[in-house]
Amino acid sequence: MTDQTQATTDPRLLELLAQLTLEEKVLVLTGHDFWATWPLEKIGLRRILVSDGPSGVRGEVWDERSPSLNLPSATALGSSWDAAIARRYGNVAAVEARRKGVDVVLGPTINLHRSPLGGRHFEAFSEDPILTADLASAYVEGLQENGVGATPKHYIANDFETDRFTVDVKVADRPLRELYLLAFEKAITEAHAWLVMSSYNSVNGATVTENELLETPLNSEWGFDGVVISDWTAVRDVNSARYSQDLVMPGPAGPWGDVLVAAVRAGEVEESAVDRKVLRLLALAARVGALEGFDAVAPEPVVVEDGVAFARTAEVEGAVLVRNENAELPWTASSLKSVAVIGHNARFARTQGGGSATVLPEKVVTPLDGLRSALPDTAVSYSVGAVVQEGIAELPLDRMTNPVTGEPGAHVRFLDASGASIFDEERRASALVWFGGDAPIAQASMLEFATRYTPDATGEILLGFAGAGNGRVIVNGELLHEENVITEGTDLGAAFLSPPSSSVAVPVVEGEPIDVTIEYDIQQGGPLAGALSITIGIEPDLSNPEELIAKAVEAARVADVAVVVVGTNSRVESEGYDRDSLALPGRQDELVRAVAAANPRTVVVVNSGSPVLLPWRNEVSAVLLSWFGGQQYGDAVADILLGVAEPGGRLPTTWPIEQADVPVIDVTPENGVVSYDEGIHIGYRAWLKAGTEPAYEFGHGLGYTSWSLDDLALDSSTVSEGGTVAAAVRVTNTGSRSGKQVVQVYASRADSSIDRPVRWLVGFAAVRVEPGESTWVTIPVSARAFADWGVDAQGDPGWHYEQGAFQLHAGTSVSDLPLTKTIEVTETTLLE
Ligand code: BGC
Repeated sequence: MTDQTQATTDPRLLELLAQLTLEEKVLVLTGHDFWATWPLEKIGLRRILVSDGPSGVRGEVWDERSPSLNLPSATALGSSWDAAIARRYGNVAAVEARRKGVDVVLGPTINLHRSPLGGRHFEAFSEDPILTADLASAYVEGLQENGVGATPKHYIANDFETDRFTVDVKVADRPLRELYLLAFEKAITEAHAWLVMSSYNSVNGATVTENELLETPLNSEWGFDGVVISDWTAVRDVNSARYSQDLVMPGPAGPWGDVLVAAVRAGEVEESAVDRKVLRLLALAARVGALEGFDAVAPEPVVVEDGVAFARTAEVEGAVLVRNENAELPWTASSLKSVAVIGHNARFARTQGGGSATVLPEKVVTPLDGLRSALPDTAVSYSVGAVVQEGIAELPLDRMTNPVTGEPGAHVRFLDASGASIFDEERRASALVWFGGDAPIAQASMLEFATRYTPDATGEILLGFAGAGNGRVIVNGELLHEENVITEGTDLGAAFLSPPSSSVAVPVVEGEPIDVTIEYDIQQGGPLAGALSITIGIEPDLSNPEELIAKAVEAARVADVAVVVVGTNSRVESEGYDRDSLALPGRQDELVRAVAAANPRTVVVVNSGSPVLLPWRNEVSAVLLSWFGGQQYGDAVADILLGVAEPGGRLPTTWPIEQADVPVIDVTPENGVVSYDEGIHIGYRAWLKAGTEPAYEFGHGLGYTSWSLDDLALDSSTVSEGGTVAAAVRVTNTGSRSGKQVVQVYASRADSSIDRPVRWLVGFAAVRVEPGESTWVTIPVSARAFADWGVDAQGDPGWHYEQGAFQLHAGTSVSDLPLTKTIEVTETTLLE
């Protein structure tokens, strides 16, 4: 065991600690409930409330009646390549947190895009460690300068979902240090994050909550003085208390408690280890204003802007235009007489990924909404084109009437074993999650959901529920269906957050309401006892795909232009499981090809949180990768298509042509192990090594103006450990409208004594330039960017600086690098 030195030595905190019994100290080290820590009135400690995030702040309840701002997904933020946007993103999230009484946001997620199959890819920034690190630090600073704690997660090597609770990731020290730990390092050493979340998985044989990595490098090298909070249920054993795991979540049950008290009394765990954890928790409480007598870092947010407007800006800055043949975009609104909007996701947009990151926005602007309101004088048609939904889609609020109140919505009751109602509430949604909050799940044996549903078409609907366990579908008082839904796989998160569904065919008539009651038997026990998730709704009609395509083609044929919004669904991208295919679900590829054949001015907007295959990409006029765009998604898409704003994004991750081309893809454990055998070669580094062409390379993205990169100058010809070289790039906007460019600097070393990437990102900057103007943009490159993690002659591990010449390349993507200069890495900087 590493020596766990006291990180917090504030005498006032030590005094408070001294007032606590061992039982009290241990008590506060496990959560009080799902989202809060224990208060201890005796020392003026109130509870600390934590919340997911990270793309918005859900708050204490998962409930549509307490809506949250829904920001674009992290992949969109990663695509901004702009630390100023990331900082504002953190500022806005902190304002939301404070509005909801939240002290700590459980984010940012800063695992890497190692494989595009990773289910939570949308929730992380990039395949590159420096891009991730710079944006993560800015996000952390943005949150914390507004007084809200940040929790970079998940420490560490939690880059995929399959068997995430048990998988052992085998990863060598060099990739661990150079890639996976780098963003955490920067978030601690530069942005001073107040918490870090330990992950579920094992690394090199030890589960993370009982892993030396929690101490080294996090504490011993980086000087972390905050709280290591566990991922939910990641602490399994009291042994973890002997490691630098500080706080167990959720509570109140958990493996510490009395067992830890006894272990301390028996001398198996040092009381000083417990004290260190408590002191850190008290220090966090002081920072967020939860400890009497201590000044919070910022009792009120200090940097405040309109969050809704920012959600739109952030999406514009993150959307990546990867193709724009013959300058198809931007369109001039006044010259468009008709637009055919096509695609399921144009009307039922995905604005965020699934899982714990989910927030419930008050209102979402879909691409169809956005285009209709931006084009009041244009005929905008809509056709679905292809089914994308899998499983149950929730009932639209305007089709539901609460039978008790007569208002839009549903009446929900919890019944005990005797059938007596013990709790009821009026809801305004049919996708319902109880994860925290007042509903007495633990005492209930049945949930009853009742609404009056008014169909919008005559025919047969597949009415049912998505939820693990036994449920009954009752229509107009008649039991039509009962099924015990068994969850696939073992991930409780997946069972909870994206459960399988069950439905029955019900004939309906347009406008004639039916009384729908769903009874659901509540199962008790398990690690998520007290939590419940169920969605009531309708499964998609898959009966006539040809007709859907034919209708869309006809709409496209008669319109000036066509916009097809393709995308994924909640079964494809979510926490709890990985993808097995990068293809778009359903018949969307066929749809795009057919529409493009009918209208040469076809633009495709891709609504996914991570890479998907676009086999038709060279057959359409333009392709905009818009990610999960947040609640103002449709406004931002309209802004971009109509040239009100320029798409600001550049790819933070390589997009493949074929799945088989992806050099690092494996996420399936073998005998419980996933080996990161590719070492330091992930993302574009692996693509360069393999010599394979992707569909769109790392760093690529188009705007609406043209550019030249004229000159690269370095402020020094040498750099040494601890130093920085400033790379200045002269950039000219050669086009006719103002624009944003992302200048990227990569390093290479032709004759290295060690294995290195062909080239690797060492710095970048977003710059905005008026037409016809030039500017110098300065990009600081730290000497560390040239260092490699290895062992010295004595066998001691550390950063190693290979001496000699490196090349610095400046340009606008990993493969478009017109400017090069040599930099010498030396033992001492000659200029000093
Ligand atoms: C996720 C975390 C999240 C936590 C609390 C876990 O399943 O991995 O990212 O913060 O749940 O919702």
